[in-house]
Amino acid sequence: MCEFFNNFSTNGDVEDKITVVRKRGVRRISLRVDAAGQIILTLPWFVTTARGLAFAAGKAEWIEAVRTRIRAAAKQQQQEAAAAGYDSLDSYVEVLRARAKRQLPARLAELAGRYGFQPSQVRIKHNRSNWGSCSARGNINLNLNLVRVAPHLRDYVLLHELCHLRHANHGPAFHSLLESLCEDLCRRDYPHLAGNYARRMQEGALHLQWRRELKNVKFV
Ligand SMILES: [Zn+2]
Repeated sequence: MCEFFNNFSTNGDVEDKITVVRKRGVRRISLRVDAAGQIILTLPWFVTTARGLAFAAGKAEWIEAVRTRIRAAAKQQQQEAAAAGYDSLDSYVEVLRARAKRQLPARLAELAGRYGFQPSQVRIKHNRSNWGSCSARGNINLNLNLVRVAPHLRDYVLLHELCHLRHANHGPAFHSLLESLCEDLCRRDYPHLAGNYARRMQEGALHLQWRRELKNVKFV
């Protein structure tokens, strides 16, 4: 699922590997490398393509570093797929998707019922940008990677998205609601972990700790 450009060099072939995007309202040149390793250069209307490409060429080292990281992550994913007994990453992802469809909506409904939330629709997504999201209409998207993480971390993401049904932001009210739900969840469903997290709960920072733990997980 990851495609990479073979080489990025500053010697003239930069243009072939870069997607130039022009958007209304953009005031600055920006450069990013997406999850597939593609280089996207966004230009304001008043900047010529030549100047934009010169800007990108000046960042060649940074681009290469990002793409090296992406390649390393892809290799790790292939290894994980192989270790799990699948011959390709795609077939591994399909197995994860099927498992996610079986498990995640059911668990979300369970937690929603317990804590008094009513999500509209639940969809399973495969992306590398987030663990989950919640739309203004109350639709919740969940990343299929959630079936690869420890159950308490999966539940943390589900609770995070459910809390957005009440607070469409990450303000103090959102955080205090999420913290209280995570603490309750930990005591009820993961009592064997409660001892490990006692200090975090005293500090009111259990959800922040779980967020940190999730940061170490790489998406497939
Ligand atoms: Zn959020």
